[in-house]
Amino acid sequence: MRRLTLNVIRLYNADMPIDERPTVYSTEANFSKPCPRCHSNPCRCRKPKSLPPEQQMASIRRETKGRGGKTVTVVYGLQLTPDDFKELARQLKQACGTGGTVKEDAIEIQGDHREKVAARLRQLGYQTKFTGG
Ligand SMILES: [Zn+2]
Repeated sequence: MRRLTLNVIRLYNADMPIDERPTVYSTEANFSKPCPRCHSNPCRCRKPKSLPPEQQMASIRRETKGRGGKTVTVVYGLQLTPDDFKELARQLKQACGTGGTVKEDAIEIQGDHREKVAARLRQLGYQTKFTGG
């Protein structure tokens, strides 16, 4: 099944008139739907790009969550793609030996690890500053 799909794709030629192209089935639900934002298919929206660390200022703050008073170290103010956010979160978690998550455009590291987080970020080339309490 998989090999068949690959063969079909290899036969596919973008210069072919559309009605001569072999049918390629996709399991992706939005395969043939235009993007809701730019109304193009494939999507032509400008993808957010990551800035190099040297051009970025990482703000670090400690936050105590309402539920149970758990403390987290929040890193924010970075311009990164979702994948790069995930990768950076992975490295920060590793540096602190703790868990954490990516929340939209911020990274939350469990516990008060501001110093370790800042040290790792600076190692990666980011500028850092502490904000809040
Ligand atoms: Zn789009």
